[in-house]
Amino acid sequence: MPYPERVRIVEVGPRDGLQNEATPISTEAKVELIDRLSSSGLTHIEVTAFVNPARIPQLADAEEVCKRIDRRPGITYSALVPNTKGYERATNAHLRDIAVFLSATETHSRRNIGTSIEGSFERYEQVTALAAEDGISVRGYVSVAFGCPYEGFVPQERVVQIAMRLLGLGCYQVSLGDTTGLGNPVQVAETVEMLRGAGAREEQIALHLHDTRGTGLANALAGLSAGVSTFDSSLGGLGGTPYAPGANGNLATEELVFMLEEMGVSTGVDLETVLQAAEGVARVLGKELPSRYLKATRATGAREAGEASA
Ligand code: MG
Repeated sequence: MPYPERVRIVEVGPRDGLQNEATPISTEAKVELIDRLSSSGLTHIEVTAFVNPARIPQLADAEEVCKRIDRRPGITYSALVPNTKGYERATNAHLRDIAVFLSATETHSRRNIGTSIEGSFERYEQVTALAAEDGISVRGYVSVAFGCPYEGFVPQERVVQIAMRLLGLGCYQVSLGDTTGLGNPVQVAETVEMLRGAGAREEQIALHLHDTRGTGLANALAGLSAGVSTFDSSLGGLGGTPYAPGANGNLATEELVFMLEEMGVSTGVDLETVLQAAEGVARVLGKELPSRYLKATRATGAREAGEASA
């Protein structure tokens, strides 16, 4: 079988999933969510972002969340940081793993990050230099890697160039983000192959897929076939995008875990625990989440059957 035997899932729900939610979520509910995810078998959870609270009020309690979660050995707890100020906040909150993010297009970069692609690199050169001194692990995100809501087509060469530059700065892994779900399986596989050709190792490549237009799992399978063994996903499919209001957001962790496990690819993740976490978030937000696995399990009352075979 051409697929990796084991896949590592980076759960981004507490950060990427919640950041665009208008309903304020209490620190307590976030801590409960993260603690529940910590008992699901997930080994990497992105818990928050140390960004300007005026821009993302939902994550203004980043310090408090980091302080109150129960950190289990063997699990990586990370946070997004946009600059050296965010870096200081994250390390003061005793995080040892951070993520930096930049865009693959100038328009998205200026509108979303407030600076050019080059300006982002200048910021992250400072951040990664500090991280190297402090022994902090840095992961890189490339947003709109497979299509841009402003510019449309994104040249794969540019994505590869940006990703390689992030690895050159010391990022241990680069996650290619299909921020608005415009990617297709052929493009995903080709980009991964180009990145491998440029010298990136398998463990240095991750995919951050969205299901905005229903291609999330197909793109994941294409990436898997191309040798990718790390995927970002969000419980319940939490995390819409402001560019497509009402549409599905991040690839749902349950859907990804279900597909992989059924294929014989191990994730180490307990579906039932993730489902319970997703149901908890749905209650807090007072709305249904997009995950089809969650809907199917609820609708058919097949929970017990699922448990029995888990
Ligand atoms: Mg996302």
